[in-house]
Amino acid sequence: MNIALVAHDNKKILMENLCIAYRHILIKNTVYATGTTGRLVEEAANLQIHKYLAGHLGGVGQLSSQIAHNDIDLVIFLRDPVSQHHNEPDIDNLMRLCDIHNIPLASNLATAEALLLALERGDLDWRKIIK
Ligand code: PGA
Repeated sequence: MNIALVAHDNKKILMENLCIAYRHILIKNTVYATGTTGRLVEEAANLQIHKYLAGHLGGVGQLSSQIAHNDIDLVIFLRDPVSQHHNEPDIDNLMRLCDIHNIPLASNLATAEALLLALERGDLDWRKIIK
């Protein structure tokens, strides 16, 4: 399964800790991430990550095009809901594309943990069938 990770700056440490805690699940899958998130997670959790450009340099757009091809099976986007972001339209588009293709999307820690456990249990195996 292809998993994509993005974390806003105020959520990056949370993403690192999430990936350390669920490394045993992530390592069995292919992990993509926006540039900075990917670099931090690689170092913190010792995972191999396919890194897009940094989010503000087009990485969110790169991830969105992979989602548009229905080629990502699970998105964890730890958003900072209290800060303004210059790329809100890109973020809206990413979420819209997830909804178009019915791609599981977690925007907070609680949902991210639930989806990773669901992935491990096989609850998302239907994604393999539709491919
Ligand atoms: P980053 O991108 O992982 O490169 O920081 C995410 C973002 O734009 O917030």
